[in-house]
Amino acid sequence: MDRSDFENVIEIQSLQNKIKIHLANIDEEKKRIDYIHTERESRKEELDEVSKSIIAIKEEISKLEKDLFKVEAELTQANKHINDATNEKQASALEHEIETLSTKQSGLEEEILEFLEKQSENEQKVDDIREYLKGSLESLQEVQSEVLELEKKEGKEIKNLEERVQALLENSSETMKKAFLALDKKFHFKNPVSFVIGGACKQCHMKVTSIQKSAIDAATSLEYCEGCGRVLAPTF
Ligand SMILES: [Zn+2]
Repeated sequence: MDRSDFENVIEIQSLQNKIKIHLANIDEEKKRIDYIHTERESRKEELDEVSKSIIAIKEEISKLEKDLFKVEAELTQANKHINDATNEKQASALEHEIETLSTKQSGLEEEILEFLEKQSENEQKVDDIREYLKGSLESLQEVQSEVLELEKKEGKEIKNLEERVQALLENSSETMKKAFLALDKKFHFKNPVSFVIGGACKQCHMKVTSIQKSAIDAATSLEYCEGCGRVLAPTF
C-alpha cells in the first residue's frame, strides 16, 4: 500500500464520475422517447373514448329517430281525424293532441340536432387525434434513431473510461483493489473515496481525529471514515 494506490483510486473515482455524466446524458435523451410514448398512449386512450362515444350517440340518435317517426305518424293521423270530427268536443280534443304531439316533435328534432352536432365534433376529434398519432410516430422514429446514435457515441466513451478504470485497478496493490471493489459496490457513482476537508470527511462531515489524519497522510494503510464508511485518501 503506497501513495500510488491512492492516486489510482482517486483517478478511478474521477473517471467513474465522467462515466456517470455519460450515462446521465443517455438517460436524459431517452426521456424524450418516453415523453412521446406517454403522449401517444394518452391520445390513443382518448381516441378509444371518443370512438365509444360515437357509437353510443349513434344508438341514441337512432332511438330518437324512431320516436320521431312514431310521433310524426300519430300527428298525420290526428290531422286526418280533425277533418272528420263530428262535434266541437271531439275537435278540441284532437287539437289538444296535435299541439302535444307538435311540441314532442320539435323537442325530439332539437335533441337529434344536438346529438348530430356533438357527433360532428367527435368526428373532428377523431381526425385530429389520428393526425397527431401519424405525425408523432414520425417524430418518435426520428428521436429513436437520434438516441441510438447518441447511445453509440456515449457508449464508446464509456467503454474507453471503463478500460482506463480496469487498467488502474490492475495497476493497484491487491489490498487496495479488493478494498476499492468492496466500496464501489456500496457507493457506486457516489464517490467511494473521500477526503479530509477542514478536519472532517468531505462526504459525510464526520470529524477525523488527528491520529487518523496522520495515518491518512502517511498513505501506508487504509483508513475508513467512521461516519459513512468510505475510504479516506490523502490529498496530493
Ligand atoms: Zn464520511
